[in-house]
Amino acid sequence: MDQTVSPPAAATAQQYAISEWHDTDEIYARLQQLIRQPLRPIRRDKMQEFLAYFDAKCQRSKALTDEAKLYIPGGVQHNLAFNYPFPIAIHRAEGAYLWDEDGNRYADFLQAGGPTILGSNYAPIREKLIDLVRECSPVTGLFHEYELKLAKKINQHMPGVEMFRMLGSGTEAVMAAIRAARVHTGHKKIIKVGGAYHGWSDQMVYGLHIPGTRRKESTGIPRAVTKHTQEFFPNNLSQLRRMLMLNRAQGGTAAVILEPVGPESGTRPVPFDFNQQVRALCDEFGALLIFDEVVTGFRLGLGGAQGYFGVKPDLTVFGKCITGGYPMAGGVGGKKEIMLHFAAGIGGTGERAYVGGTLSANPLSCAAGYFALEEMERTNAAVLAGQAGDRLTAGLKSIIDRLHLPYAAYNQGSIVHLETSGVMLLDLKNPLKLLRELKPRKHMMEEMGAAYMAQGVITLAGSRLYTSMADTNDVIDDALDRIEYVLSCVEGAG
Ligand code: PMP
Repeated sequence: MDQTVSPPAAATAQQYAISEWHDTDEIYARLQQLIRQPLRPIRRDKMQEFLAYFDAKCQRSKALTDEAKLYIPGGVQHNLAFNYPFPIAIHRAEGAYLWDEDGNRYADFLQAGGPTILGSNYAPIREKLIDLVRECSPVTGLFHEYELKLAKKINQHMPGVEMFRMLGSGTEAVMAAIRAARVHTGHKKIIKVGGAYHGWSDQMVYGLHIPGTRRKESTGIPRAVTKHTQEFFPNNLSQLRRMLMLNRAQGGTAAVILEPVGPESGTRPVPFDFNQQVRALCDEFGALLIFDEVVTGFRLGLGGAQGYFGVKPDLTVFGKCITGGYPMAGGVGGKKEIMLHFAAGIGGTGERAYVGGTLSANPLSCAAGYFALEEMERTNAAVLAGQAGDRLTAGLKSIIDRLHLPYAAYNQGSIVHLETSGVMLLDLKNPLKLLRELKPRKHMMEEMGAAYMAQGVITLAGSRLYTSMADTNDVIDDALDRIEYVLSCVEGAG
């Protein structure tokens, strides 16, 4: 047989960014060890040097963001931009790099929080969008062909997304998914994983960042609104089962919502069979399974996490990559009989799940999404980004070993985690430790982010690095050298 000819199935098979699922137990063992130890921050003299960079080289950023504090609460409009010691004002974006207002160049592993998997400011999409806007403007309020093209394209790669409703953000999409789940099941309870972020809607600001914290961040949200939201400890399936059983006796669970790689984009990773097991529990208890694929949707591959894990959710929430990095990025999709609840009154079935949005599904966003998915198909972007993630992770691991540091590096394809302070792994099982260590560990993470930035590498909050198709081996190797310098300045490194 001619070994060079691929079988037809392989030619059409989805490809994914993850070359091999990580050893989840090993990662937790390492993370547990990390948070049992005292902090290992950057040496004070070296940290002063890193901070001096900002005073010397980022003066225009400082002036702009200082003035912004007079007009914008906290000085920035988005948490991601809230960097220590002060926010950096970005002037230019191209491929793997960003440039700030003072002309400094950075390797960009923030990637706008995840969407720019083709690289920043990707010219083939930009040029098509400029043509579209010239012809049709970004918004008309009426139907545009790209709404259909995008929905069809998603369905082509994710057959479970039979129908798709485009919205304005991941937050909105989560709200819509929950509403549809409640209409469809007639149940109220929503179960999420403790620590997971699913946007900032009232009912989802519950158990954020740190498992077990429930309403800790729910300032301004009446208790009645979070009354039907519940959290279970990451990966604790027996607790989930108990909740589902208890809920059954009290009216039932509308949905379990989760990020398929684990909360905070896999910062607390799941074992490979986790999603399959949650699917089975949902089926047993008549709850819908909602995958929040705001991050994994197309970053793991065009089939998303649901394709990679081979698990079909009832509803899928999209954001970020759905518009290739252009605003406004959000949508929900899934089984036809559930999705039709969004259409009641104009041809739907049963009760209506009300959603809206003046600028949702505007031609610019839908065309951006369609072109982005087309380009991802053509270039195999998710897989290339995943290879860059593997290279970055392997490099980080070997630096950590070489310098004898207790840190942990692991990845799910192009989602790379570099845990140095372990703050994201604290939880309420040990409340005293949490109380004592939350602030210093969080501050250490901010310092690490500042030090990487002073070395020309932008990360997400000092502990997550997204890779893109633009991250060639040279980009990754250069970034590794810079990160190695930072890590060599840690107390006791070497
Ligand atoms: N879900 C997840 C998993 C996310 O990461 C985010 C955004 N970071 C959201 C929902 C909310 O999306 P948006 O910021 O578009 O509202």
